[in-house]
Amino acid sequence: MFDSDTIKSEFIFFLKEKLHFKDSEIYIDSDKGLSNANKDLIKEFIKKKNEGIPLDYILNSSKFNEYDFFVDSRVLIPRPETEIIVDYVKNHFSSPINILDAGTGSGCIGISIALNNPSFRVYGSDYSVDALDVACINKHNLNVKNFLLIQANWLSCFKTKCFDIIVSNPPYIAEGDSHLEKLVHEPNIALVSKENGLFCIKNIVEQSSKALKSGGILIIEHGYQQQDEVEETFKKNKFTKIINLKDFQLLPRITIGILER
Ligand code: GLN
Repeated sequence: MFDSDTIKSEFIFFLKEKLHFKDSEIYIDSDKGLSNANKDLIKEFIKKKNEGIPLDYILNSSKFNEYDFFVDSRVLIPRPETEIIVDYVKNHFSSPINILDAGTGSGCIGISIALNNPSFRVYGSDYSVDALDVACINKHNLNVKNFLLIQANWLSCFKTKCFDIIVSNPPYIAEGDSHLEKLVHEPNIALVSKENGLFCIKNIVEQSSKALKSGGILIIEHGYQQQDEVEETFKKNKFTKIINLKDFQLLPRITIGILER
């Protein structure tokens, strides 16, 4: 599943992060003795790599923006392109506002937004109690005061017109899509959506048109081939001034719209 260069660099990263090896001990001091505890950790690493478990799950840590998030197999590993959502909010809004991160998973989007601006009130919702548990660990590890967690089936529990901004990186992969073969260690519920991957997105857009204040902003991440259908759904639900942001490979991955006043 991985080439030998990847395994090598992951192993070196593991030695540094988990076993606190210095570069000199890895590259020069080949006689460095290993404690039994460290030998066990290395055996465990090899076993997990053989099973194809991603490094972030092995280390229980994932970098997102400048923060280290706790992750395990109950949540998706944060992806670099999702940082574009956080940067967009950071660069365009500053006054005290209410923001919802719908389907917060590890909490990476909501927590990063909350940490960037303490005047924001950020809510993170998820249907999965397991995911909320992980998000709660991150809220405490990163000492985030302006981030609240709520269990909800998307936006079902929220009052009308209560948010200024709703952001979401929902499950959007179609059932049976070949990309899923490489994602077997991540929770299916965080990845897959019915209706060719669009069911959750349609639900969020529809519910957001009620939960957002008029003039509120909706920001949704989606698959690179879903731009047209997502834009159509935004229009159907009274969103205007729709724009799309591209990821680092210049593929259309994030749609943004303003709810009609
Ligand atoms: N918001 C989280 C992330 O972007 C979880 C996303 C999800 O579970 N689909 O990593």
